[in-house]
Amino acid sequence: MAECEVIIVGAGPAGISCGYVLAKAGVDVVILERGRFAGSKNMFGGIFFADQMNKLIPDFYIDAPVERFVAKKHYSLLINDSEVSLNIDSEEHKKPPYNHSYIVRRSVFDKWFAEKAKEQGATIICGTAVTDFVWDGNKVVGVKAGTSDDPENVLTGDVVVCGEGANSMLSEKAGLRNRLSMRARCISVKEVIQLGKDVIDERFGLTAREGAAYEYFADATPGMLGDGFIYTNMDSLSVGVGVVISEMYGAGNSACPNELLDRFKSHPCIRPLVKGGKTLEYSAHMIPMDGYKNLPRFYTDGLMLVGDAAGFVNNSICHEGVNMAMASGIMAAETILENRGRRRYDAGALRQYERRLNNSFVLENMKSSRDFIDILRTHKELLNDYPHLIKDVITTYFEVSDVPKSSLKRDVIRMVRGRISFVKAARTFAAILKGGI
Ligand SMILES: Cc1cc2nc3c(=O)[nH]c(=O)nc-3n(C[C@H](O)[C@H](O)[C@H](O)COP(=O)(O)OP(=O)(O)OC[C@H]3O[C@@H](n4cnc5c(N)ncnc54)[C@H](O)[C@@H]3O)c2cc1C
Repeated sequence: MAECEVIIVGAGPAGISCGYVLAKAGVDVVILERGRFAGSKNMFGGIFFADQMNKLIPDFYIDAPVERFVAKKHYSLLINDSEVSLNIDSEEHKKPPYNHSYIVRRSVFDKWFAEKAKEQGATIICGTAVTDFVWDGNKVVGVKAGTSDDPENVLTGDVVVCGEGANSMLSEKAGLRNRLSMRARCISVKEVIQLGKDVIDERFGLTAREGAAYEYFADATPGMLGDGFIYTNMDSLSVGVGVVISEMYGAGNSACPNELLDRFKSHPCIRPLVKGGKTLEYSAHMIPMDGYKNLPRFYTDGLMLVGDAAGFVNNSICHEGVNMAMASGIMAAETILENRGRRRYDAGALRQYERRLNNSFVLENMKSSRDFIDILRTHKELLNDYPHLIKDVITTYFEVSDVPKSSLKRDVIRMVRGRISFVKAARTFAAILKGGI
Protein backbone atom coordinates (compact mmCIF):
# COMPACT_ATOMS: atom_id res chain seq x y z
CA MET A 1 0.00 0.00 0.00
CA ALA A 2 1.50 3.33 -1.09
CA GLU A 3 0.84 6.74 0.42
CA CYS A 4 0.92 10.35 -0.75
CA GLU A 5 -0.64 13.66 0.32
CA VAL A 6 -3.15 14.23 -2.46
CA ILE A 7 -4.51 11.77 -5.04
CA ILE A 8 -6.06 13.04 -8.26
CA VAL A 9 -8.07 10.71 -10.50
CA GLY A 10 -7.82 11.63 -14.20
CA ALA A 11 -5.23 13.65 -16.14
CA GLY A 12 -7.67 15.84 -18.04
CA PRO A 13 -7.54 19.65 -17.80
CA ALA A 14 -9.29 19.58 -14.39
CA GLY A 15 -6.95 17.00 -12.84
CA ILE A 16 -3.75 18.41 -14.31
CA SER A 17 -4.60 22.00 -13.27
CA CYS A 18 -5.22 20.82 -9.73
CA GLY A 19 -1.99 18.82 -9.73
CA TYR A 20 -0.01 21.71 -11.23
CA VAL A 21 -1.04 24.17 -8.50
CA LEU A 22 -0.46 21.65 -5.70
CA ALA A 23 2.92 20.47 -6.98
CA LYS A 24 4.05 24.08 -7.42
CA ALA A 25 3.23 24.65 -3.73
CA GLY A 26 5.35 21.63 -2.77
CA VAL A 27 2.53 19.13 -2.13
CA ASP A 28 3.24 15.42 -2.71
CA VAL A 29 0.56 14.85 -5.37
CA VAL A 30 -0.09 11.76 -7.53
CA ILE A 31 -2.31 11.88 -10.64
CA LEU A 32 -3.67 8.51 -11.80
CA GLU A 33 -4.69 8.30 -15.47
CA ARG A 34 -6.22 5.27 -17.16
CA GLY A 35 -4.96 6.20 -20.66
CA ARG A 36 -1.49 5.30 -21.94
CA PHE A 37 -0.60 8.99 -21.66
CA ALA A 38 -2.45 12.16 -20.71
CA GLY A 39 -4.67 13.07 -23.65
CA SER A 40 -4.75 9.57 -25.16
CA LYS A 41 -8.40 9.07 -24.10
CA ASN A 42 -9.48 12.68 -24.48
CA MET A 43 -11.30 14.46 -27.24
CA PHE A 44 -13.33 17.62 -27.59
CA GLY A 45 -14.57 19.86 -30.38
CA GLY A 46 -11.63 22.14 -30.47
CA ILE A 47 -11.79 25.56 -28.77
CA PHE A 48 -9.53 25.85 -25.78
CA PHE A 49 -10.67 28.85 -23.71
CA ALA A 50 -7.35 29.86 -22.25
CA ASP A 51 -7.92 32.47 -19.53
CA GLN A 52 -7.25 29.91 -16.75
CA MET A 53 -4.17 28.54 -18.51
CA ASN A 54 -2.80 32.08 -18.87
CA LYS A 55 -3.04 32.42 -15.09
CA LEU A 56 -1.02 29.22 -14.55
CA ILE A 57 1.44 29.65 -17.43
CA PRO A 58 1.43 33.23 -18.77
CA ASP A 59 1.88 33.40 -22.57
CA PHE A 60 1.60 29.60 -22.67
CA TYR A 61 0.67 29.71 -26.37
CA ILE A 62 4.21 30.63 -27.40
CA ASP A 63 5.47 27.24 -26.21
CA ALA A 64 2.32 25.04 -26.21
CA PRO A 65 1.19 22.86 -29.14
CA VAL A 66 -1.76 25.04 -30.18
CA GLU A 67 -2.93 24.59 -33.75
CA ARG A 68 -4.33 28.05 -34.46
CA PHE A 69 -6.06 30.92 -32.63
CA VAL A 70 -9.74 31.55 -33.30
CA ALA A 71 -9.79 34.50 -35.69
CA LYS A 72 -13.24 33.84 -37.17
CA LYS A 73 -16.48 32.54 -35.76
CA HIS A 74 -19.34 31.40 -37.89
CA TYR A 75 -22.80 30.58 -36.48
CA SER A 76 -25.00 28.91 -38.99
CA LEU A 77 -28.48 27.48 -39.45
CA LEU A 78 -28.61 24.56 -41.86
CA ILE A 79 -32.07 24.36 -43.37
CA ASN A 80 -32.79 21.58 -45.81
CA ASP A 81 -30.14 22.16 -48.49
CA SER A 82 -29.46 25.80 -47.54
CA GLU A 83 -27.58 27.78 -44.94
CA VAL A 84 -28.16 31.12 -43.18
CA SER A 85 -25.19 32.32 -41.18
CA LEU A 86 -23.61 35.00 -39.05
CA ASN A 87 -19.87 35.63 -39.36
CA ILE A 88 -17.73 37.29 -36.71
CA ASP A 89 -14.36 38.39 -38.03
CA SER A 90 -12.77 40.80 -35.56
CA GLU A 91 -9.31 42.34 -35.95
CA GLU A 92 -9.21 42.60 -32.13
CA HIS A 93 -9.27 38.82 -31.88
CA LYS A 94 -6.28 38.49 -34.19
CA LYS A 95 -3.87 40.04 -31.65
CA PRO A 96 -2.52 38.55 -28.40
CA PRO A 97 -4.15 37.24 -26.24
CA TYR A 98 -6.38 36.23 -29.20
CA ASN A 99 -9.63 36.50 -27.22
CA HIS A 100 -8.26 33.64 -25.06
CA SER A 101 -9.53 31.19 -27.70
CA TYR A 102 -7.25 28.65 -29.38
CA ILE A 103 -7.86 25.54 -31.42
CA VAL A 104 -6.02 22.54 -30.01
CA ARG A 105 -5.96 18.76 -30.32
CA ARG A 106 -6.27 17.18 -26.92
CA SER A 107 -4.04 14.18 -27.63
CA VAL A 108 -1.04 16.51 -27.97
CA PHE A 109 -2.15 19.42 -25.80
CA ASP A 110 -3.00 17.43 -22.64
CA LYS A 111 0.29 15.57 -22.96
CA TRP A 112 2.17 18.89 -23.04
CA PHE A 113 0.22 20.22 -20.04
CA ALA A 114 0.91 17.02 -18.07
CA GLU A 115 4.64 17.51 -18.70
CA LYS A 116 4.35 21.04 -17.27
CA ALA A 117 2.73 19.62 -14.10
CA LYS A 118 5.52 17.03 -13.85
CA GLU A 119 8.11 19.83 -14.11
CA GLN A 120 6.46 21.37 -11.04
CA GLY A 121 6.90 18.05 -9.18
CA ALA A 122 3.60 16.19 -9.76
CA THR A 123 3.79 12.41 -10.22
CA ILE A 124 1.61 11.17 -13.08
CA ILE A 125 1.00 7.44 -13.34
CA CYS A 126 -0.62 6.43 -16.64
CA GLY A 127 -2.26 3.13 -17.61
CA THR A 128 -3.99 2.92 -14.21
CA ALA A 129 -7.79 2.97 -13.98
CA VAL A 130 -9.14 3.73 -10.52
CA THR A 131 -12.01 1.37 -9.76
CA ASP A 132 -13.11 2.47 -6.30
CA PHE A 133 -12.39 4.61 -3.29
CA VAL A 134 -10.94 3.36 -0.02
CA TRP A 135 -13.13 4.38 2.91
CA ASP A 136 -12.52 4.86 6.61
CA GLY A 137 -16.11 5.03 7.85
CA ASN A 138 -17.69 7.85 5.85
CA LYS A 139 -14.40 9.39 4.79
CA VAL A 140 -12.55 8.74 1.54
CA VAL A 141 -8.94 7.95 2.42
CA GLY A 142 -7.60 6.59 -0.84
CA VAL A 143 -8.26 4.80 -4.13
CA LYS A 144 -8.07 1.29 -5.54
CA ALA A 145 -7.06 0.17 -9.00
CA GLY A 146 -8.08 -3.21 -10.40
CA THR A 147 -10.69 -5.54 -9.00
CA SER A 148 -8.83 -7.37 -6.25
CA ASP A 149 -8.23 -6.14 -2.71
CA ASP A 150 -4.50 -6.60 -3.19
CA PRO A 151 -2.80 -3.86 -1.09
CA GLU A 152 -0.43 -3.39 -4.05
CA ASN A 153 -3.36 -1.77 -5.86
CA VAL A 154 -4.20 0.69 -3.10
CA LEU A 155 -2.96 4.27 -2.78
CA THR A 156 -3.92 6.25 0.31
CA GLY A 157 -3.83 10.00 0.77
CA ASP A 158 -5.10 12.85 2.93
CA VAL A 159 -7.62 13.89 0.29
CA VAL A 160 -8.80 12.70 -3.15
CA VAL A 161 -9.80 14.89 -6.11
CA CYS A 162 -11.94 13.14 -8.72
CA GLY A 163 -11.53 14.53 -12.26
CA GLU A 164 -12.53 11.42 -14.18
CA GLY A 165 -14.67 13.24 -16.74
CA ALA A 166 -18.23 13.02 -18.07
CA ASN A 167 -18.86 9.36 -17.28
CA SER A 168 -17.89 9.49 -13.61
CA MET A 169 -18.73 6.13 -12.03
CA LEU A 170 -16.69 7.03 -8.97
CA SER A 171 -18.85 10.03 -8.11
CA GLU A 172 -21.88 7.69 -8.25
CA LYS A 173 -20.08 5.21 -6.01
CA ALA A 174 -19.38 8.01 -3.52
CA GLY A 175 -23.11 8.82 -3.48
CA LEU A 176 -22.50 12.36 -4.77
CA ARG A 177 -24.63 11.95 -7.90
CA ASN A 178 -27.43 9.72 -9.13
CA ARG A 179 -27.06 7.32 -12.04
CA LEU A 180 -26.45 9.21 -15.26
CA SER A 181 -29.59 9.80 -17.25
CA MET A 182 -29.81 9.87 -21.05
CA ARG A 183 -31.31 13.36 -20.74
CA ALA A 184 -28.21 14.57 -18.93
CA ARG A 185 -25.61 13.49 -21.48
CA CYS A 186 -24.87 14.45 -25.05
CA ILE A 187 -22.99 12.02 -27.28
CA SER A 188 -20.60 13.53 -29.81
CA VAL A 189 -18.73 11.94 -32.67
CA LYS A 190 -15.85 13.62 -34.40
CA GLU A 191 -13.52 13.01 -37.30
CA VAL A 192 -10.17 14.67 -37.78
CA ILE A 193 -9.89 15.13 -41.53
CA GLN A 194 -6.52 15.81 -43.08
CA LEU A 195 -6.27 18.61 -45.65
CA GLY A 196 -3.29 20.76 -46.61
CA LYS A 197 -2.80 24.06 -44.76
CA ASP A 198 -3.14 26.00 -48.02
CA VAL A 199 -6.42 24.28 -48.83
CA ILE A 200 -7.82 25.07 -45.37
CA ASP A 201 -6.64 28.70 -45.55
CA GLU A 202 -8.30 29.15 -48.93
CA ARG A 203 -11.60 27.45 -48.02
CA PHE A 204 -11.99 29.32 -44.75
CA GLY A 205 -10.33 32.62 -45.75
CA LEU A 206 -7.44 32.37 -43.27
CA THR A 207 -3.76 33.31 -43.21
CA ALA A 208 -0.79 32.26 -41.06
CA ARG A 209 -2.07 30.92 -37.68
CA GLU A 210 -5.58 32.28 -38.01
CA GLY A 211 -8.24 29.67 -37.35
CA ALA A 212 -11.99 29.37 -37.77
CA ALA A 213 -14.70 27.92 -35.52
CA TYR A 214 -17.91 27.03 -37.37
CA GLU A 215 -21.01 26.02 -35.38
CA TYR A 216 -24.09 24.59 -37.09
CA PHE A 217 -27.63 24.32 -35.75
CA ALA A 218 -31.16 23.35 -36.89
CA ASP A 219 -30.92 20.63 -39.57
CA ALA A 220 -27.31 19.85 -38.57
CA THR A 221 -29.07 17.38 -36.22
CA PRO A 222 -32.57 17.35 -37.72
CA GLY A 223 -35.34 17.70 -35.15
CA MET A 224 -32.98 16.81 -32.31
CA LEU A 225 -31.35 18.83 -29.59
CA GLY A 226 -27.75 19.03 -30.78
CA ASP A 227 -25.36 20.77 -33.14
CA GLY A 228 -22.55 20.28 -35.61
CA PHE A 229 -19.11 21.88 -35.79
CA ILE A 230 -16.00 22.38 -37.88
CA TYR A 231 -12.79 23.73 -36.34
CA THR A 232 -9.65 24.34 -38.37
CA ASN A 233 -6.45 22.74 -37.10
CA MET A 234 -3.20 23.62 -38.85
CA ASP A 235 -3.48 20.98 -41.58
CA SER A 236 -6.65 19.13 -40.65
CA LEU A 237 -10.27 19.83 -39.71
CA SER A 238 -12.14 18.67 -36.61
CA VAL A 239 -15.64 17.87 -37.85
CA GLY A 240 -18.36 16.54 -35.60
CA VAL A 241 -21.94 16.41 -34.37
CA GLY A 242 -23.37 16.04 -30.89
CA VAL A 243 -26.90 15.10 -29.81
CA VAL A 244 -28.57 14.66 -26.42
CA ILE A 245 -28.81 10.88 -26.04
CA SER A 246 -32.50 10.81 -25.03
CA GLU A 247 -33.34 12.80 -28.19
CA MET A 248 -31.58 10.33 -30.41
CA TYR A 249 -33.53 7.35 -29.16
CA GLY A 250 -36.78 9.12 -28.30
CA ALA A 251 -39.75 10.30 -30.33
CA GLY A 252 -39.30 7.88 -33.23
CA ASN A 253 -35.70 8.92 -33.94
CA SER A 254 -33.30 6.05 -34.31
CA ALA A 255 -30.29 7.60 -36.01
CA CYS A 256 -26.82 6.45 -34.96
CA PRO A 257 -24.30 9.19 -34.17
CA ASN A 258 -22.04 8.07 -37.05
CA GLU A 259 -24.98 8.29 -39.50
CA LEU A 260 -25.67 11.82 -38.28
CA LEU A 261 -22.04 12.76 -38.88
CA ASP A 262 -22.10 11.28 -42.40
CA ARG A 263 -25.31 13.17 -43.10
CA PHE A 264 -23.77 16.40 -41.78
CA LYS A 265 -20.65 16.00 -43.92
CA SER A 266 -22.70 15.41 -47.04
CA HIS A 267 -24.82 18.57 -46.63
CA PRO A 268 -24.31 20.74 -49.76
CA CYS A 269 -22.89 23.60 -47.64
CA ILE A 270 -20.49 21.35 -45.67
CA ARG A 271 -19.33 19.01 -48.45
CA PRO A 272 -17.16 21.64 -50.22
CA LEU A 273 -15.39 22.43 -46.94
CA VAL A 274 -14.33 18.83 -46.21
CA LYS A 275 -13.96 17.65 -49.83
CA GLY A 276 -10.85 15.61 -50.65
CA GLY A 277 -9.85 15.13 -47.01
CA LYS A 278 -8.57 11.92 -45.48
CA THR A 279 -9.93 10.73 -42.13
CA LEU A 280 -7.08 10.53 -39.62
CA GLU A 281 -9.03 9.98 -36.37
CA TYR A 282 -12.55 8.95 -35.42
CA SER A 283 -13.69 9.33 -31.83
CA ALA A 284 -16.75 9.67 -29.62
CA HIS A 285 -17.23 11.23 -26.20
CA MET A 286 -19.97 12.35 -23.84
CA ILE A 287 -20.67 15.91 -22.71
CA PRO A 288 -22.40 16.56 -19.37
CA MET A 289 -25.76 18.27 -19.74
CA ASP A 290 -26.63 18.27 -16.03
CA GLY A 291 -27.07 22.03 -16.04
CA TYR A 292 -27.03 24.32 -13.03
CA LYS A 293 -30.27 22.95 -11.58
CA ASN A 294 -29.14 19.30 -11.55
CA LEU A 295 -25.55 19.52 -10.43
CA PRO A 296 -24.27 16.80 -8.06
CA ARG A 297 -22.82 17.46 -4.61
CA PHE A 298 -19.26 18.62 -5.15
CA TYR A 299 -17.60 17.23 -2.05
CA THR A 300 -17.84 14.86 0.86
CA ASP A 301 -15.42 13.84 3.62
CA GLY A 302 -12.02 13.47 1.96
CA LEU A 303 -13.22 13.96 -1.63
CA MET A 304 -13.90 16.75 -4.16
CA LEU A 305 -15.29 16.48 -7.71
CA VAL A 306 -13.82 18.70 -10.43
CA GLY A 307 -14.51 19.37 -14.12
CA ASP A 308 -16.94 17.21 -16.09
CA ALA A 309 -17.22 14.77 -13.16
CA ALA A 310 -18.98 17.61 -11.33
CA GLY A 311 -21.01 18.59 -14.42
CA PHE A 312 -19.18 21.91 -14.95
CA VAL A 313 -20.02 22.53 -18.59
CA ASN A 314 -21.93 25.55 -19.79
CA ASN A 315 -24.17 24.16 -22.52
CA SER A 316 -25.26 27.51 -23.84
CA ILE A 317 -24.07 28.89 -27.14
CA CYS A 318 -20.40 29.08 -25.99
CA HIS A 319 -19.64 25.42 -25.03
CA GLU A 320 -17.42 26.39 -22.11
CA GLY A 321 -15.96 23.19 -20.68
CA VAL A 322 -12.19 23.14 -20.51
CA ASN A 323 -11.92 26.55 -18.84
CA MET A 324 -14.48 25.49 -16.22
CA ALA A 325 -12.66 22.20 -15.67
CA MET A 326 -9.39 24.05 -15.14
CA ALA A 327 -10.94 26.68 -12.88
CA SER A 328 -12.55 24.00 -10.68
CA GLY A 329 -9.25 22.08 -10.51
CA ILE A 330 -7.46 25.26 -9.42
CA MET A 331 -10.16 26.01 -6.80
CA ALA A 332 -9.94 22.45 -5.42
CA ALA A 333 -6.15 22.91 -5.13
CA GLU A 334 -6.58 26.27 -3.36
CA THR A 335 -9.02 24.65 -0.91
CA ILE A 336 -6.48 21.91 -0.16
CA LEU A 337 -3.70 24.45 0.37
CA GLU A 338 -5.93 26.45 2.70
CA ASN A 339 -6.55 23.38 4.88
CA ARG A 340 -3.13 21.80 4.55
CA GLY A 341 -1.72 23.22 7.81
CA ARG A 342 -4.44 21.46 9.85
CA ARG A 343 -4.59 18.37 7.55
CA ARG A 344 -8.32 18.72 7.84
CA TYR A 345 -10.28 17.63 4.77
CA ASP A 346 -13.67 16.63 6.15
CA ALA A 347 -16.83 17.95 4.49
CA GLY A 348 -16.84 20.97 6.84
CA ALA A 349 -13.38 22.02 5.68
CA LEU A 350 -14.07 21.27 2.00
CA ARG A 351 -17.17 23.49 2.04
CA GLN A 352 -14.69 26.23 1.10
CA TYR A 353 -14.51 24.61 -2.34
CA GLU A 354 -18.21 25.21 -2.93
CA ARG A 355 -17.90 28.76 -1.63
CA ARG A 356 -15.12 29.41 -4.16
CA LEU A 357 -17.20 27.91 -6.99
CA ASN A 358 -20.19 30.05 -6.00
CA ASN A 359 -18.06 33.19 -6.21
CA SER A 360 -16.56 32.29 -9.58
CA PHE A 361 -17.56 32.47 -13.24
CA VAL A 362 -18.08 28.68 -13.22
CA LEU A 363 -21.36 28.61 -11.29
CA GLU A 364 -22.22 32.20 -12.31
CA ASN A 365 -22.19 31.29 -16.02
CA MET A 366 -24.02 28.01 -15.46
CA LYS A 367 -26.65 29.85 -13.45
CA SER A 368 -27.01 32.49 -16.12
CA SER A 369 -27.91 29.83 -18.74
CA ARG A 370 -29.66 27.48 -16.32
CA ASP A 371 -32.79 27.11 -18.49
CA PHE A 372 -31.12 26.93 -21.91
CA ILE A 373 -31.55 23.19 -22.48
CA ASP A 374 -35.05 23.08 -20.95
CA ILE A 375 -36.14 25.95 -23.20
CA LEU A 376 -34.89 24.10 -26.30
CA ARG A 377 -36.56 20.89 -25.10
CA THR A 378 -39.94 22.48 -24.53
CA HIS A 379 -39.84 24.96 -27.44
CA LYS A 380 -38.97 22.71 -30.35
CA GLU A 381 -40.03 25.54 -32.65
CA LEU A 382 -36.60 27.07 -31.89
CA LEU A 383 -34.94 24.04 -33.50
CA ASN A 384 -37.35 23.58 -36.40
CA ASP A 385 -40.01 26.15 -37.24
CA TYR A 386 -38.11 29.37 -36.50
CA PRO A 387 -34.92 28.49 -38.43
CA HIS A 388 -37.06 27.44 -41.41
CA LEU A 389 -39.03 30.67 -41.16
CA ILE A 390 -35.85 32.77 -40.97
CA LYS A 391 -34.52 31.11 -44.12
CA ASP A 392 -37.84 31.55 -45.97
CA VAL A 393 -38.12 35.22 -44.94
CA ILE A 394 -34.57 35.99 -46.03
CA THR A 395 -34.76 34.15 -49.35
CA THR A 396 -38.15 35.69 -50.16
CA TYR A 397 -37.10 39.24 -49.35
CA PHE A 398 -33.79 39.04 -51.22
CA GLU A 399 -35.33 37.43 -54.30
CA VAL A 400 -34.55 39.56 -57.34
CA SER A 401 -37.38 39.70 -59.85
CA ASP A 402 -39.89 42.10 -61.32
CA VAL A 403 -42.09 41.65 -58.23
CA PRO A 404 -42.00 45.04 -56.41
CA LYS A 405 -40.33 45.09 -52.99
CA SER A 406 -43.55 46.39 -51.40
CA SER A 407 -45.28 43.20 -52.53
CA LEU A 408 -42.40 41.05 -51.22
CA LYS A 409 -42.64 42.83 -47.87
CA ARG A 410 -46.35 42.02 -47.67
CA ASP A 411 -45.55 38.36 -48.48
CA VAL A 412 -42.95 38.29 -45.73
CA ILE A 413 -45.33 39.78 -43.15
CA ARG A 414 -48.05 37.30 -44.14
CA MET A 415 -45.56 34.46 -43.89
CA VAL A 416 -44.39 35.47 -40.41
CA ARG A 417 -47.95 36.05 -39.15
CA GLY A 418 -49.10 32.72 -40.50
CA ARG A 419 -46.26 30.71 -38.98
CA ILE A 420 -45.62 32.12 -35.52
CA SER A 421 -47.62 33.47 -32.64
CA PHE A 422 -46.06 36.79 -31.59
CA VAL A 423 -47.20 36.34 -28.00
CA LYS A 424 -45.65 32.89 -27.79
CA ALA A 425 -42.45 34.06 -29.51
CA ALA A 426 -42.16 37.05 -27.16
CA ARG A 427 -42.56 34.76 -24.14
CA THR A 428 -39.94 32.33 -25.48
CA PHE A 429 -37.40 35.08 -26.12
CA ALA A 430 -38.07 36.63 -22.71
CA ALA A 431 -37.36 33.20 -21.15
CA ILE A 432 -34.14 32.93 -23.18
CA LEU A 433 -32.99 36.35 -22.00
CA LYS A 434 -33.83 35.53 -18.39
CA GLY A 435 -32.27 32.08 -17.99
CA GLY A 436 -31.16 30.85 -21.38
CA ILE A 437 -27.95 32.73 -22.21
C1 LIG B 1 -17.36 16.69 -28.74
C2 LIG B 1 -17.00 17.62 -27.63
C3 LIG B 1 -16.75 18.93 -27.91
C4 LIG B 1 -16.38 19.81 -26.92
N1 LIG B 1 -16.01 21.06 -27.28
C5 LIG B 1 -15.50 21.88 -26.34
C6 LIG B 1 -14.93 23.12 -26.73
O1 LIG B 1 -14.86 23.45 -27.92
N2 LIG B 1 -14.47 23.94 -25.74
C7 LIG B 1 -14.50 23.58 -24.42
O2 LIG B 1 -14.06 24.37 -23.58
N3 LIG B 1 -15.01 22.40 -24.04
C8 LIG B 1 -15.49 21.53 -24.96
N4 LIG B 1 -15.95 20.30 -24.59
C9 LIG B 1 -15.98 19.95 -23.16
C10 LIG B 1 -14.59 19.63 -22.61
O3 LIG B 1 -13.95 18.70 -23.42
C11 LIG B 1 -14.69 19.08 -21.18
O4 LIG B 1 -15.49 19.94 -20.41
C12 LIG B 1 -13.32 18.94 -20.54
O5 LIG B 1 -12.50 18.07 -21.26
C13 LIG B 1 -13.46 18.43 -19.11
O6 LIG B 1 -12.20 18.20 -18.55
P1 LIG B 1 -12.02 17.12 -17.39
O7 LIG B 1 -10.59 17.18 -16.99
O8 LIG B 1 -13.07 17.34 -16.36
O9 LIG B 1 -12.38 15.71 -18.05
P2 LIG B 1 -11.70 14.94 -19.26
O10 LIG B 1 -11.05 15.87 -20.19
O11 LIG B 1 -12.72 14.00 -19.78
O12 LIG B 1 -10.53 14.09 -18.54
C14 LIG B 1 -10.83 13.03 -17.67
C15 LIG B 1 -9.61 12.14 -17.59
O13 LIG B 1 -9.82 11.14 -16.59
C16 LIG B 1 -9.39 9.88 -17.09
N5 LIG B 1 -10.16 8.87 -16.35
C17 LIG B 1 -11.50 8.63 -16.41
N6 LIG B 1 -11.87 7.70 -15.55
C18 LIG B 1 -10.73 7.33 -14.90
C19 LIG B 1 -10.46 6.37 -13.87
N7 LIG B 1 -11.45 5.67 -13.32
N8 LIG B 1 -9.19 6.22 -13.47
C20 LIG B 1 -8.16 6.96 -14.03
N9 LIG B 1 -8.38 7.87 -15.00
C21 LIG B 1 -9.64 8.05 -15.41
C22 LIG B 1 -9.70 9.94 -18.57
O14 LIG B 1 -8.95 9.01 -19.31
C23 LIG B 1 -9.34 11.39 -18.89
O15 LIG B 1 -7.98 11.53 -19.22
C24 LIG B 1 -16.31 19.38 -25.57
C25 LIG B 1 -16.58 18.05 -25.26
C26 LIG B 1 -16.87 17.16 -26.28
C27 LIG B 1 -17.10 15.72 -25.94
